[in-house]
Amino acid sequence: MLRKYQNITETIGRTPVVKLSRLAPEGVEIFAKVEAFNPMGSVKDRFALAAIEDAERKGLLKPGQTVIEATSGNTGISLAMVCAQRGYPFVAVMAENFSVERRKLMRFLGAKVVLTPAAERGSGMLAKAVELAKTHGWFLTRQFDNEANAEMHARTTAREILADFEGERLDAWVTGYGTGGTLKGVARTLKAARPETRVVVAEPDNSPLLGSGIRSQRNGDGTEAGAHPAFRPHLMQGWTPDFRSKLVEDTVDLGLIDEIVPVAGNDALAAARDLARYEGILAGTTAGATLAAAMTLARRSPQGSRILCMLPDTGERYLSTPLFADVPVDMTEEEYAISRSTPFARFDSSSSTPPKPPVAPVAQPEVLPQAAAFVTDAIRDPANPVVMFALEWCEFCWSARKMFKHHGIPYRSIDLDSVAYQKDDWGGKIRAALNAETGLRTIPQIFIGGRHVGGCTDLFDGWKSGRLQSEMEAAGIAFRRDTLDPYSFLPGWLHARN
Ligand code: PMP
Repeated sequence: MLRKYQNITETIGRTPVVKLSRLAPEGVEIFAKVEAFNPMGSVKDRFALAAIEDAERKGLLKPGQTVIEATSGNTGISLAMVCAQRGYPFVAVMAENFSVERRKLMRFLGAKVVLTPAAERGSGMLAKAVELAKTHGWFLTRQFDNEANAEMHARTTAREILADFEGERLDAWVTGYGTGGTLKGVARTLKAARPETRVVVAEPDNSPLLGSGIRSQRNGDGTEAGAHPAFRPHLMQGWTPDFRSKLVEDTVDLGLIDEIVPVAGNDALAAARDLARYEGILAGTTAGATLAAAMTLARRSPQGSRILCMLPDTGERYLSTPLFADVPVDMTEEEYAISRSTPFARFDSSSSTPPKPPVAPVAQPEVLPQAAAFVTDAIRDPANPVVMFALEWCEFCWSARKMFKHHGIPYRSIDLDSVAYQKDDWGGKIRAALNAETGLRTIPQIFIGGRHVGGCTDLFDGWKSGRLQSEMEAAGIAFRRDTLDPYSFLPGWLHARN
């Protein structure tokens, strides 16, 4: 249904259920609820909106008050989105071992990200968030025991599933758990409405917090006391922290879980890859793990069975993780063979690219006296001893700027193709004067204290030899020294060929 939304949070939920017709075994139907359709690409958008709206309604959250949460990333990204839209500052506390994409996404959305040591695990990151909230009077959304978490899933996720399968057979619903919000909320409503649908819970095979049957020890105030004895580090980011949360424990106590399926890490990765390759659905590691559990179930289910599994998030959040570890960046042999199968635009030197037709010599553009004066003034300007004639978005100019910034070197960048230099092709006229001055046609051209350094790699080489540092000291330019190789400022694809 197409409609206009008043703000991005209104687009949360109502995610599609998609049939996996290529992966399901003969005679069994597997469906997936694709939570990547939420605006931030994960199921946690539902919780973020619920937590903020619930706190606003109860007067727990004041306008402009800072919101804080301990998160494996998805909750943080979702809260960063809702807080950005509602005008609350947001601080995410996250263990350092979760993927860097997550940190960057949160910061891009305006959040602050406080990292905690991996060795402190999920409970350490939670304790840090509690401490910060208490100390600063920030609002902690408490995703692990906040009833609004499960409530939202009961009200939205479960109702959506009931509507999509109304009047149809549904033998099992498969999910994993992190906070247990999805599990508790959906299981409760689903069981009440259609008790014949089995609730199947997947968890990492090496970290069977539910399978062990052991409850988490709790302190008097309800917080978890220490790591669960069955916990082991696993690769399913967002699943099974080192404690059984209150929401998970509630689900156990309510007797809502029919079956627990352990999933091996490699099976989770393989299932996520199969989902992408054979169904065209890009989802994360826990989605792969949930599907792997659904497949296990399907293989031993009677013909005609119908199974629904949750796919909690998008695969794009895992580019730096084991999920994408085997995906090459460079061309494979097979891809080179495709490249070599036609003559144009190849990398190999034996390329039979047809010779280019001779190019008529380009007439040297006339150098205007005003442009020549501009170049000379800029090079000799005592207020800006470091000056770079640049193009706004060229990769080499960008790399030189990164080096200047890293070392705190003040510089003037004259961006010849920027709007400011476009009128009457003023940038082009300056470039012609610069060519005449240096005898070089390439950009950038960099000058320090009136001396011509050259282009980006000349700058880097001068820095590596120590010559630039001496010149800058002599010219009274302040800067920071360190041993970083300036070539590391080049983007990866340039790096590879330098
Ligand atoms: N998968 C991923 C990738 C997650 O980030 C989360 C949430 N931590 C879950 C699954 C589990 O969802 P829930 O918190 O509702 O149990």
